[in-house]
Amino acid sequence: MSRQNIHILLAENRQPAINAIKAALTDHNDLKYSFNIARTGKDILEKTDSNKFDLVLMEQSLSDTDGIKVLDEINKRKLQTPVIIIVEENKENLGVEAMDKGAYDYLTRDEIKTAALNRAVRRAIQRKKLEDDIKESLKKLEKMAIRDGLTGLYNHNHFKEILKLEYKQAKRNILPLSCIMLDLDHFKSVNDTYGHQFGDFALVKSAEILKKLVRDTDFVARYGGEEFFIVLPNTNQAGAFILAERIRSAFEKNVFRKGDISRPVTVSVGISSTSDNNVAGDSDLIANADKALYRAKWRGRNNVCTYEETEFEKKVHIREEDEMIKDFSLKFENVHENIKETCIESAHNILRELSSGWDYINEHLVRVSRYVEKMTREMETPEEDAHVIKRAALLHDIGMVGINSKILKKKGRLTDEEYALVKRHANIGVKIIERTRLFHKELPIILHHHERFDGSGYPHKLKGENIPYGARLLAVAEAYDAMSSDTVYRKSCSSGKAVAELKSCAGKQFDPHIVDVFVRVVNKD
Ligand code: GH3
Ligand code: MG
Ligand code: MG
Repeated sequence: MSRQNIHILLAENRQPAINAIKAALTDHNDLKYSFNIARTGKDILEKTDSNKFDLVLMEQSLSDTDGIKVLDEINKRKLQTPVIIIVEENKENLGVEAMDKGAYDYLTRDEIKTAALNRAVRRAIQRKKLEDDIKESLKKLEKMAIRDGLTGLYNHNHFKEILKLEYKQAKRNILPLSCIMLDLDHFKSVNDTYGHQFGDFALVKSAEILKKLVRDTDFVARYGGEEFFIVLPNTNQAGAFILAERIRSAFEKNVFRKGDISRPVTVSVGISSTSDNNVAGDSDLIANADKALYRAKWRGRNNVCTYEETEFEKKVHIREEDEMIKDFSLKFENVHENIKETCIESAHNILRELSSGWDYINEHLVRVSRYVEKMTREMETPEEDAHVIKRAALLHDIGMVGINSKILKKKGRLTDEEYALVKRHANIGVKIIERTRLFHKELPIILHHHERFDGSGYPHKLKGENIPYGARLLAVAEAYDAMSSDTVYRKSCSSGKAVAELKSCAGKQFDPHIVDVFVRVVNKD
């Protein structure tokens, strides 16, 4: 066990007493003492002020003053060092007086030669440590009451207090006050793809970006999960808009990087101001910012919107053509779907080109996509989700392009090292596909298609329903296809045998419910 260093200031004039104290305090297993000597009251105060002593052992009668007066001065200067005072045999009343003034203990001259000295020193050190610990905990508690534990920003409750106060001030001084409410876009997909740890990391970094961009007089708070709120005293709507645009653009340009993960995240921003027509209290500022944020999301995210804009249609007494917008959105969505399809086709072409003579992957992607299509139909999965799962199936093994073909074409068993390299294909696939920014819903499925229901899969060892639903579907379809098609290293087995294998792994490797569905699909065929 390492010994704790105890630094003692000995305020003693008499050499025999100094010798006695040093002798009594030398032999300890866990404590190692070092001493500094002070001879006058002035000397004690100077040394205590400038050094970090663990303890002052002070004689009551000093050459220029007495211990009680020194204690008064120590209290006045708020010095935190514990003091034990040494009094003459018949002057114990002075010891009691010293304790009333904050001394931790007193000892008589005779006692310093005995075990009593050791006990008193030890108790003083323990008490000081306890007091320091309590102070530290209180500081932490105070901080916790107003700060968010993850980002260090103000928490929701404290933010509300600030807003209340700032609103009052703004009204009293007839100054403008604006608010910015901000929500990270598609953050659920960030968590689903890279895990909560990376999500938390992105939240911490987001807080840093915000703190860097605001003025010292602004208040940044974590409003909730991935939502932030900024209170901008003495700022009108135009000023808030400039800051909001700066924030939006900073996020757009930023990429969150941790280990081998790199991912951009955009933000949507809503702005409210005291100049908005319906503001009668601080809570209206929150409600208005929330409405504006909703509008910014509706516009397609990565967008800034003011409450005033959301009110625009009311002001001019003309409604936006909702039907036209819906119609356009639907048609535009179709264009988007077509782009995705073309993108997938191109990916298959590139894959074919790059790995010529190795058509297995392409054929496998198409076969698996047909299986999942049948499964989603069997389960009556909502159309949009079914499309996402199908697209993920068509892309899920794209990352194989990054695996050395010697390994892929190897006949016979892979070594552990080779298998570890093959496992990288899920991450590589995500890395390639995320660049298009078209497939954020498909990415989690692609990344997790080798997770196992019992938590023993890769890359994140997700378990049960924590594995994205589409990835659980894909796992079953992919395994069936691998068993029922010829590969370089294995001849295909019969459909019956493959199904029996799926059944035997239900609940371990596969979601049992999905195996049931798959068996129904195969039987129908
Ligand atoms: P939108 O663009 O509509 O805002 O989409 P979204 O996915 O960001 O929105 P949604 O509100 O559906 O999801 C918010 C997600 O934020 C849910 C959760 O995964 C994530 N989240 C919330 N709080 C935390 C947190 O403290 N840590 C992490 N890692 N993620 C969080
Ligand atoms: Mg969000
Ligand atoms: Mg949200």
